[in-house]
Amino acid sequence: MPFTPFHMGPGAAVKAVAGRYFSLTVFGFSQVMIDLEPLIRLFRGDSVLHGMSHTYLGALVIGAVALLAGKPLCEWWLRGWNRAVDIKYLRWLMVNPNISWLAASLGAFIGTLSHVLLDSVMHADMHPFAPFSYANQMLHLIPAGQIYLLCTILGVAGFIALAVVALWHKHSFDTE
Ligand SMILES: [Zn+2]
Repeated sequence: MPFTPFHMGPGAAVKAVAGRYFSLTVFGFSQVMIDLEPLIRLFRGDSVLHGMSHTYLGALVIGAVALLAGKPLCEWWLRGWNRAVDIKYLRWLMVNPNISWLAASLGAFIGTLSHVLLDSVMHADMHPFAPFSYANQMLHLIPAGQIYLLCTILGVAGFIALAVVALWHKHSFDTE
């Protein structure tokens, strides 16, 4: 938080490399899930925004929830997506709506764990190893601006690669 969409950059890059072994939609769902706590705290005006959700322990719990809830929700969403792009010139955007448990698991847990890792560099109110340790050696290791830039570059490169692959195979995802 508060820039959840930036987390999609690394996700797109992983998707471009891992393909059908990684669910980008479940990854995205996990990003929304993990940022619910800081969002609620932001509206409440709390001084600490990042609590248990932004710890590695919390990330494992939220990852499990994102896996179990996200797999059926994302499959339903992908079927809707396929109906929306089932028109001339857009059919190359159609995807396989079935998400394997492996792809959903990798999407969910890489999602929440990478989220805590990236956020721990930026947010001074985070204790990523709580309740075992309240130290955060990652804080300000890299300037926040460089992290946003890295996420943007990974996102642009990842989505371009995905688009090229989809155009190359046209309906490649249907046959996987
Ligand atoms: Zn966050």
